[in-house]
Amino acid sequence: MSKIGFVGLGIMGKPMSKNLLKAGHELVVFDVVAERVDELTAAGAGKGASAADAAAKSEIIITMLPDGPDVEKAVLGPAGVLEGAAGGSILVDMSSINPLVAQKVGAACEAKAVEFLDAPVSGGEPKAIDGTLAIMVGGKQETFDKVAPILQAMGSSVTLAGEVGAGNVTKLANQIIVACNIAAMGEALVLATKAGLNPETVFQAIKGGLAGSTVLNAKAPMLIGRNFKPGFRINLHHKDLRNALQAAESLRVPLPITSLVQQMVVSLINEGKGDLDHSGIAQFAEQGAKVEVRKKA
Ligand code: NAD
Repeated sequence: MSKIGFVGLGIMGKPMSKNLLKAGHELVVFDVVAERVDELTAAGAGKGASAADAAAKSEIIITMLPDGPDVEKAVLGPAGVLEGAAGGSILVDMSSINPLVAQKVGAACEAKAVEFLDAPVSGGEPKAIDGTLAIMVGGKQETFDKVAPILQAMGSSVTLAGEVGAGNVTKLANQIIVACNIAAMGEALVLATKAGLNPETVFQAIKGGLAGSTVLNAKAPMLIGRNFKPGFRINLHHKDLRNALQAAESLRVPLPITSLVQQMVVSLINEGKGDLDHSGIAQFAEQGAKVEVRKKA
């Protein structure tokens, strides 16, 4: 069993850290929101006074933060992980961030003899709770081998995709597919609804065919049931699409469909919908057609 520091106890970090406790690991946790720390200490974790303190008390440090600038602040900034981490310890950043920022953080860790992996996840809150996340990892094989059993307490699939940054490139690929799927689902079910069909019947009819997908199974019932409670916020998906477009720009890869969906997302955020679940991306198509996709009585 390992001594693990966990920084970032939000929608994802809270259940992930609880699964590490359940697996028998010793945890020291930190979040800028004190109540989130209190909930974990009530569940048996130790309290960190800062990210540096949590790191100083641990062999392995996990960060689960919103975006690259948050990771840079919590790792490289004052009272950050690298102020406390001892040489030979391992930092695993599980946030979804720009791969270039992951490489910057990885280089800063290397300069302090701290091993680094970027290991973003897919699956959302339900799979974080079940401990069945898909975890995509970038870094050295030897570091991966040391940490894989710990990651397996949070995920059912743990894959080393390449060097540092590769975890986040894989995650961006995942996020492109998910966002474009939700947008396409929105257009399809808006068309069906406007044509007078019951979208629930259409969903049931197509889900076993080629259009069926994990995205469709998870998000169509939310759209049809008018349940946009996150889950995964539109604001976070905006961040992922922005990171995908930035990475694509630096590699000179055109991403026309992703760009279009990103523009829809910006428009929804401007309408105050950034905190809806990303199934709400479908609302863009609803607005154009002046129709709501909902189950017919
Ligand atoms: P969240 O906003 O719910 O949680 C982030 C937590 O980090 C918050 O508790 C916040 O207080 C804390 N925090 C921010 N800055 C900090 C700092 N400097 N020091 C300590 N704590 C700090 O976000 P989330 O939904 O848990 O997502 C976390 C990451 O996981 C994001 O990169 C997101 O894209 C990714 N992700 C989320 C989901 C999902 O469904 N929510 C799914 C897959 C991946």
